[in-house]
Amino acid sequence: MTKFRIGIWDHCRYVTDRRAPYDEMARHLERMRQWGVTLTNIYLPEVISLDDYCRAAASCGMELEARITPEWASSAVVKRQLPEEEWQRMESTLGIRLSGPCGNREDNRELFLAGAEKIACEYGSRINSLHLDFIRNDNALTLMDFPCQCDVCKGLYKRFFGTEVLTPEMRKDPAVLYKLTALRCKSIRKTVEGMKSIANSHSLRLSIAARANYVNSADITVPPVWGLGPAVLEGQDWAEWADDGVVDELFPMNYHTDLELFESVLKDHQRLLGEKASSMLFPGIGVESSMGKNSPADVAERIAIVKNSSLPGVMLFNKTNIYSDDYCRIIKEYAEE
Ligand SMILES: [Zn+2]
Repeated sequence: MTKFRIGIWDHCRYVTDRRAPYDEMARHLERMRQWGVTLTNIYLPEVISLDDYCRAAASCGMELEARITPEWASSAVVKRQLPEEEWQRMESTLGIRLSGPCGNREDNRELFLAGAEKIACEYGSRINSLHLDFIRNDNALTLMDFPCQCDVCKGLYKRFFGTEVLTPEMRKDPAVLYKLTALRCKSIRKTVEGMKSIANSHSLRLSIAARANYVNSADITVPPVWGLGPAVLEGQDWAEWADDGVVDELFPMNYHTDLELFESVLKDHQRLLGEKASSMLFPGIGVESSMGKNSPADVAERIAIVKNSSLPGVMLFNKTNIYSDDYCRIIKEYAEE
């Protein structure tokens, strides 16, 4: 374990020759490794060739996490279902049609776990961790008004609320809201537990990209960010997963460009995790994300805050995947191996 670990989220977006990606992968990882990055987290839906990527990471001694999502598992994954008039209502009120995988379904869970097992079997000796992204239902903001109406969800509503479709009044009832949230959290947790047992049996760590807003943290709920949570409304009770040892490391996506928001959200995470923060909390810092851009000085300020809080490291997110030298110099300044 490094003393202060700086990791990167990667998607191979810098690769131009998709038929022979190895050289560009190796060059990129080698450069980042020289600047002090010791862990790379690769997004499997975009990796092009995981074999090449593993080889490139190994050639420069970079730790490697395989990042998977429920949607990645299969084209058969069932996503949120709504009648067409409800989709139109979502589009007219929120400006988007959000339809991520439904977390309440056993069939979705089985596909995801089978995909993870396959990766662990084939690549277990070449990766260090499994990493879960989008380990939740999609967006709290849209779930409040547009809960999934797939057959499984309708069956749950029928059993617990006596009706297959929730009325606006029911959706405001605290007891109904509690039960809806509890069902989501229970179902997603079951998936995470399955992942943890796969990780354990292959001697891998399990980490997750966590919503920055757990319950009532500062948040941005307007487009194009669409709200960062609250995590628990989406079924992602990561504080509970940490308590119960279901995950090993948490990377909350604290990409705020407003320093006050960044710090207040970070304090929430430290409060939630208590002593565990010093071993498992690796705040995600945005270089450039849907929340905007942080300059090299902004990134330095954030890394310094995390380091001064005695946390074990950070994860950097940059949607282009490319770090100019001025960002790399910051990495070099703070990374400890
Ligand atoms: Zn559903």
